[in-house]
Amino acid sequence: MRKIENFIAGEYVAAASGKRFDKRSPLDNRVIASISEAGRPEVDAAVKAARGALNGEWGGLSTDQRVELLYGVANEITRRFDDFVEAEMADTGQPAHVQKHVFIPRGAANFKVFADVIKNVASESFQMATPDGRGALNYSMRVPKGVVGVICPWNAPFMLMTWKVGPALACGNTVIVKPSEESPQTAALLGEVMNAVGIPKGVYNVVHGFGPDSAGEFITQHPGVNAITFTGETRTGAAIMKAASEGMRDVSFELGGKNAGIVFADADFDAAVDGIFRSAFLNSGQVCLGTERVYVERPIFERFVQALKVKAEAVKFGRPDDHNANYGPLISQEHRDKVLSYYRKAVEEGATVVTGGGVPEMPGELAEGSWVQPTIWTGLSDDAAVVREEIFGPCCHIRPFDSENEVVALANDNVYGLSTTIWTNDLARAHRMAARVEVGITWINSWFLRDLRTPFGGSKQSGIGREGGVHSLEFYTETRNVCVKL
Ligand code: NAD
Repeated sequence: MRKIENFIAGEYVAAASGKRFDKRSPLDNRVIASISEAGRPEVDAAVKAARGALNGEWGGLSTDQRVELLYGVANEITRRFDDFVEAEMADTGQPAHVQKHVFIPRGAANFKVFADVIKNVASESFQMATPDGRGALNYSMRVPKGVVGVICPWNAPFMLMTWKVGPALACGNTVIVKPSEESPQTAALLGEVMNAVGIPKGVYNVVHGFGPDSAGEFITQHPGVNAITFTGETRTGAAIMKAASEGMRDVSFELGGKNAGIVFADADFDAAVDGIFRSAFLNSGQVCLGTERVYVERPIFERFVQALKVKAEAVKFGRPDDHNANYGPLISQEHRDKVLSYYRKAVEEGATVVTGGGVPEMPGELAEGSWVQPTIWTGLSDDAAVVREEIFGPCCHIRPFDSENEVVALANDNVYGLSTTIWTNDLARAHRMAARVEVGITWINSWFLRDLRTPFGGSKQSGIGREGGVHSLEFYTETRNVCVKL
């Protein structure tokens, strides 16, 4: 069993209170790690260390020096690739191939990409005329926001955390990271990388714990934290926003989704089935961008439902390193209970269960894990809870539609607005639709594909702000205006 401590000012430290909590494996519910729960004293110490680094060695580095250090972080993550893969697999139970080909490489890329962005960013400058004829030079400069609180979820822990830590550090900030209580290991491991590369102490700090009345809330309440970036549930975002209003601190939120997948009859049928399958079931459905509402044009509806059913029934449950398996469990028993409660609710609301709806039979100790079957429903009304609320599990409801206008209205009829995936071979229609769906990102004949230089974020209750490429600078820096009379 691993012992995981907080990482403050470059040292691994246990909380003064001695409080610890357990992390259980999603595979078999075994305790795999004991984690020190940070209290207010540890959050205070982390803020002090972060402020000290900002006013000290880190704040004194040139952009080029910071960039070199961040390239070093990316390279060191790549060198310790297997350690990161193993830690993430242990926390999430998700298959090795997803960690190896998507999540961990993206974690390393997040440091490189934002180092490149900051290296190439320009600032504006104007030569002004003045009545005395001498003129003035008016220019702007970007400065770091300061100490940034980074509060993270468990579904793709390393990728989502580094997506925030990368740009925050590139812009010259220091950070206090609070990983999810369900996925503490890669954030802890990143401390070793920071020390190995020579990132000054106090630049990267990690405090472990929960949300309310624990490390998460203590960060949001701390007056020494200048800005908070958060990925997680919309309800949690609302609580953090309240806390951040004390002291008028800035927030950047990536929140929940109830995303629509739209398939027109003219789409490449097999590609659409594959695409919707991935978007509904990747990572056992625990992807904010996942598709829990699928709309299929009526002429191909029945055929599509059957084709998706075949794929959902072909998944092979098993351990992440089992080469015969390709499907993992949910993150925890608690989350499994929530997802299963929606499986029951779907039946109560009158759904036809096309496939799944329960728990797979698992051998031996795996029977204790948080496994659920990929599940497909049809026949629910548009106001069913299962169609309106984010479930965050491997499930989707499929409904037929008859026209472009109808499906746009259906897609937009939700409080969330994170993403849409549209499958069609009519390009004019695809572009028309992209302008009409109320979401932060629209995929056309694709899903989960994005150049990291483009903006990412949600509309409506799916988020506040955009991160990615230069867009991240809007949150992680403050623009100052300087006017010099010549
Ligand atoms: P969550 O909101 O329960 O927890 C996220 C983090 O917030 C955890 O670290 C938790 O300890 C902390 N937290 C909880 N209450 C807090 C409080 N009052 N103050 C401060 N911190 C608090 O979310 P989760 O269950 O970990 O993640 C799943 C959710 O994340 C889903 O809703 C999913 O859609 C969303 N998500 C969104 C994106 C995106 O980019 N939009 C990406 C991934 C996940």
